[in-house]
Amino acid sequence: LTDTQATRPGTIRAVVFQGPGRILLCERPRPALASAADVLIAVEACGICGTDLHILEDPPGHPAAPGVVLGHELVGHVAEAGPEARGVTVGDRVVVAPNISCGSCAPCKQGAPSACQNFSTVGIFRDGGLADLVSVPARACHRVTGALPARVAALAEPLSCVLNGIRRVRPMPGEVAVIHGAGAIGLLFLAVLGAGGVRCVVAEPVTQRREAARLMGAAATVDPAAADVRAAVTALQPGGADLAVDAVGSQFGAAVAEVRPGGEVLLFGMNSRARSAIAQNDITRREITVHGAYVGEATFPAAVRLLESGLLRLDPVISHYLPLDRAQDAVDALRSGGAVKAVLDVAGSAAIAGDPGGRSLGRRGASGFEQTGASR
Ligand SMILES: [Zn+2]
Ligand SMILES: [Zn+2]
Repeated sequence: LTDTQATRPGTIRAVVFQGPGRILLCERPRPALASAADVLIAVEACGICGTDLHILEDPPGHPAAPGVVLGHELVGHVAEAGPEARGVTVGDRVVVAPNISCGSCAPCKQGAPSACQNFSTVGIFRDGGLADLVSVPARACHRVTGALPARVAALAEPLSCVLNGIRRVRPMPGEVAVIHGAGAIGLLFLAVLGAGGVRCVVAEPVTQRREAARLMGAAATVDPAAADVRAAVTALQPGGADLAVDAVGSQFGAAVAEVRPGGEVLLFGMNSRARSAIAQNDITRREITVHGAYVGEATFPAAVRLLESGLLRLDPVISHYLPLDRAQDAVDALRSGGAVKAVLDVAGSAAIAGDPGGRSLGRRGASGFEQTGASR
């Protein structure tokens, strides 16, 4: 199916996870509401992120249900609302918090929903936003102004994760931070910290990403293979950074070495294979605080308000904005390091096949796949 082939009435286009390493743009029956508390979203745009790349590794670096429609960073309009859908109505423009926690497992009851044992993540374990239409719980939707470009609104999900990390540290204006990694996440950290008056050193081996960091106001950018990151930090502030952010997932040791006594380390990037040799006494003796941060539903409202405020300069983050039928190109560009962030323009590439009669075709069937886990 290509962009030039119109979908038949009662069908939608969807980028489907075919199994290890493979995606395919398919024609699917128009989805029905998955529950009475769901809404159908007519998707405008949907981001592709590192998690999607991990899913598409062979063997997979992140689990996903084969047959599922990918995409968990979506923005769109409510096209249909179930009788028990609350908080949003037909016509609302919304972004979606994709990690649906259960509310009843032990971590949820302990106020740690990011460790929910029964996550059903949109775009990972249930159908996601790389499609013309997707059914999501109304409670996962957050209204967003129509004035925000769709490609920027699609950043709400990764931004909510970044804010979930930043709220643990609560940095102050005038402080110095070092950020490891200038992919989309590292750049979002830079944008938020910079907007808050924090001066940032960004360590990143890829030239294009360092350039994006420079455009976004980094105080200094460093290629860690060619220069001493700690020297760049101490040039800004003797003794080291107030905060070190690891947006890579393997830079714990460097981060500890780069913060000042009493400084803070935020571990955000994910690499389940990374092992760091840390001198534990270095943390004890210098009274360093180490935070881990994963995903956070509670920071979605702040992420939306922050995007709407226009305070963040985000254009350099989105290197690729491509039509839905170029999903594979977007994945390839991200894999090669040639892209920073890829967002797919879903609504712009073709009209939505919105024949209500299509609903009788029923829900497609990748369900019954019992896996859970969050994504960001
Ligand atoms: Zn739970
Ligand atoms: Zn993501």
